[in-house]
Amino acid sequence: MSLDPSFLKQLTTFAVGFSAAFLAALWLSLIFWTNRDIRKRSRDRVLRIIAVVVVTVFFLPGFLIYLVLRPGYMLEEEYQRALEEEALLQAIEGAALCPGCERHLQPDWIVCPGCGTVLKKTCESCGRLIELPWNICPYCTAAVPGMPVEISDTESVLEQGQFDEDETDVEIEIEDDDIQSDLDDNEVKSQL
Ligand SMILES: [Zn+2]
Ligand SMILES: [Zn+2]
Repeated sequence: MSLDPSFLKQLTTFAVGFSAAFLAALWLSLIFWTNRDIRKRSRDRVLRIIAVVVVTVFFLPGFLIYLVLRPGYMLEEEYQRALEEEALLQAIEGAALCPGCERHLQPDWIVCPGCGTVLKKTCESCGRLIELPWNICPYCTAAVPGMPVEISDTESVLEQGQFDEDETDVEIEIEDDDIQSDLDDNEVKSQL
């Protein structure tokens, strides 16, 4: 069985043409893919151009080099990581510091374990922990006595011994039934 030489030549031409077309398509696809991939990974224009040029010039070896050297994280992933880090940082910074010894405080601590500063008080009505400056319990709406601003019923406050009359820092001015006291938070804390 013998093949026609002209048919063989045609076959070879077709095979070469097909291979060339395939390689060209592969080449363009890799350039396109690289361009899309590097845009997700870097905002650096120079880096983007270098990546595309390397794949364009070196084709498959260049593509392998790109896969090895490309930035490990997508911009989106990096953004998520940055968000997480920031949240963590805020959690640390947002944690209250003890006014006495600057130690990081847990939100449910009543007294600083380091220096003994009173940090919270309990609502007498519902028993929940509330901030020292609060006049009204936000959980049960009960009035919480002993706080510096707008004390309307001083007698009950005095009866409950919230104010030490010998304390020189405490000033209670009585003018036309309007009582003001200039306690600052720390003084109140020491009394509680
Ligand atoms: Zn402390
Ligand atoms: Zn309460």
